[in-house]
Amino acid sequence: MKHNFNAGPSILPRVVFEEASRAILDFNGTGLSILEIGHRTPLFEAVLQEAVSLVKELMQLKEDKEVLFLHGGASTQFFQLPMNFLSKDTTAAYLDAGVWGSKAIKEAKLFGNVKVVASSKETQYDRIPDSYSVPDDAVYFHYTTNNTIEGTQMHAIPAVNIPLVADMSSDILSREMDFNRFDFIYAGAQKNIGAAGVNLVVANKGFLEKGNTGIPSMMEYRQHVANGSMLNTPPVFAIYVCLLTLRWLKSIGGVAAMEKINEQKASLLYNTLESLPIFHLPVAPQDRSLMNAVFTMKDPDLEASFLQACKEEGMVGVKGHRSVGGFRISLYNALPLSSVETLTTLMKHFASKHG
Ligand code: PMP
Repeated sequence: MKHNFNAGPSILPRVVFEEASRAILDFNGTGLSILEIGHRTPLFEAVLQEAVSLVKELMQLKEDKEVLFLHGGASTQFFQLPMNFLSKDTTAAYLDAGVWGSKAIKEAKLFGNVKVVASSKETQYDRIPDSYSVPDDAVYFHYTTNNTIEGTQMHAIPAVNIPLVADMSSDILSREMDFNRFDFIYAGAQKNIGAAGVNLVVANKGFLEKGNTGIPSMMEYRQHVANGSMLNTPPVFAIYVCLLTLRWLKSIGGVAAMEKINEQKASLLYNTLESLPIFHLPVAPQDRSLMNAVFTMKDPDLEASFLQACKEEGMVGVKGHRSVGGFRISLYNALPLSSVETLTTLMKHFASKHG
């Protein structure tokens, strides 16, 4: 039995793996694989339509929202977004609260002016900056809702007077949020919603209308909207895996039910870590992520044997990101509470042996 704490690609529900593998051999009793049907067939059109309507339902989106499934990981959105909305004589505002946000900033600078409203880089992104002001004349304000590498999460939606943009790659659909407050949301699928290779984009129709022209067709959001995410051949299998994961999320009670489970998992883990003095939690408590818990050991010499103990219990993905070190436990939607229970039991045993 494996316990998969990988940061992404990461664990998906068992039922998704089973149904996806069946569909590779025989999609819906058609005698054809999902990998060999045309994307402009009623068979695939039904997949895409259901995926779009499940996103609208689970996120409780209003009529003014467009839902797109686009190629590439979230890193494609780092440049596609400013390519559409920024220019040499305008400014976009960004919050610099983690490695992924800083990569988004770097890409945006290729297209126009960037105002970094605040940064926690100096303290190794151990917190979310809490006092900053966003200029009213910027074309949008961009932030990362959950910093996957550093294990911080922004728990409140910032109040701004300009279009609000968020990279939700590592916490999308993990907690209740008023998704309608955002003008543009993007998320790589490979953590909470499906297989790598596709991005979910949710955007205001009015905001998309303001996009730049004269950019490559595949980059222009308006053209993807006009073609219903079928401007070219979409990543059909990755979208199908999203559909299966969205169906699963709905079947367990949607985002509200998911949030309760995620809170249970995270509080069990953080409470255990806090109760055992051999562990150290570097992140400011108010900004701790419910999706990625980062910790180190006060005695670095113990790290290798802790890692070995995890390995012996079938745990994968516990090592911290190479830029941070220590450990990172990813608690995405599909990770069962039982995996966290096994881990916290191991932590207690380990601490009593070495504490
Ligand atoms: N943003 C965040 C918050 C992420 O966690 C990641 C990947 N871990 C990315 C962007 C980049 O995603 P991709 O590898 O899909 O380009």
